[in-house]
Amino acid sequence: MPVRDTFGLVPPGSELALDLFFVPFAMLFAFGMWRRMRGFGLWRAIVNSPGGIRSAIGRLGSNALLQHRVALRPRGWPHLAIFFGFLVLLSATTIVAIDWDIARPLGFRVLAGARYLYFEVFVEALALAFVIGLLAALAWRLVRLRRVARDQRRIQYQFLILIGGLLYMGLTGFLLESLRLTIRPVPWADWSFIGVRLASALSLIGIEHIAKSFYVVLWWSHAFVAFSLIASLPYTAFLHAAAAPLNSMTQPGIPQRELNAPFDLRTLMDAGDFDVKVGAASVADLDAGQRFALQACTNCGRCDEVCPATAMGTALSPRWLVQKLRAKMLSGSATQDLLATDILAPAELWACTTCAACVQACPVFIRPVDYIIPFRRELVARQRLDKRQTEFLANLSLSGNAYGLPAERRNQLAAELRSAARSSEE
Ligand code: SF4
Ligand code: SF4
Repeated sequence: MPVRDTFGLVPPGSELALDLFFVPFAMLFAFGMWRRMRGFGLWRAIVNSPGGIRSAIGRLGSNALLQHRVALRPRGWPHLAIFFGFLVLLSATTIVAIDWDIARPLGFRVLAGARYLYFEVFVEALALAFVIGLLAALAWRLVRLRRVARDQRRIQYQFLILIGGLLYMGLTGFLLESLRLTIRPVPWADWSFIGVRLASALSLIGIEHIAKSFYVVLWWSHAFVAFSLIASLPYTAFLHAAAAPLNSMTQPGIPQRELNAPFDLRTLMDAGDFDVKVGAASVADLDAGQRFALQACTNCGRCDEVCPATAMGTALSPRWLVQKLRAKMLSGSATQDLLATDILAPAELWACTTCAACVQACPVFIRPVDYIIPFRRELVARQRLDKRQTEFLANLSLSGNAYGLPAERRNQLAAELRSAARSSEE
């Protein structure tokens, strides 16, 4: 009967050695994740997000599991192939561990008979998609490397190393399977449709005599790269894999074009407490969900690509603004007054048109415009406005329009403009 032979080709004791080998990597991972996740009140932010926990789980399903935002992008398919391939390979490894460590000692096998054969075909197909997605992502990032801003290169190199590591995992996975079939041929080998072809190719170059030692070396290197990737997750761009799904759960969930209100006047009046903070001067003044979201930024620049203020050559780059806030938070300077030091300059904050194009473009659910508005409100509270901005705000509050026109004159002006537009069309 077909059955999974998990540790059959490595020396006795390798299973225990592998578990011990994993311990320092697991500790590094756990420590890093603890540092990244603590102090944000994540659970509270998720529970208090609009719609509560049910909506948050819905957003997790649509954004993280179905990859809704990535799937709609023109170049989204490599990410989809990598994501689903990775998910299946991770689940397959877990099933193999359960089969070997739990089911086998209890006297039955999960991966046996027809179930095992279908498992082989499914996992190999997704592993193939995973490798193709990684090759496409690698090519795209290499081509793009020269075009990205200098400060974006570091994160691009991290992504290249990450893709290289995952590619190594995918390719060595196929190679291990083919060596297994070379060393211990089985009648059901054809179900491993890639492994069996690779095994035939290996037999052509005649490596049977070193196949067993090659298998052991490859097996350990495969484990080393896998463990290194796990340990690196909290410290590298790989963090977005954990931060983005959680971030999507804490999102305000308001329509894209609606800005966050600093307070609800009715609630304040009911409570009789008007001691409310309207704006923000430092990262610490942002709410917990916003601070957590900064960690998810991959410095990809998609927000810059769609930002009209960036395109017009103003001082605003939403990517750079988010990166500056992120750097302040991670360097322990969260309480530094960013307006007093002009780390956030009025020119960049006022350049934003609040169009929210950046919100729609961000693949990890960051809302750059929601960082700009609180700092802008604080500039107003500190009266750091030039003459034009003061006039603009006074006009808005007194006449309800930016030009300070009385209502009847405004309607007349609108009618004149409409008629001028009609005549120019004719
Ligand atoms: S909301 Fe502001 S930062 Fe975002 S794309 Fe529009 S102008 Fe740029
Ligand atoms: S805010 Fe989003 S779109 Fe902008 S650089 Fe960061 S991850 Fe990319």
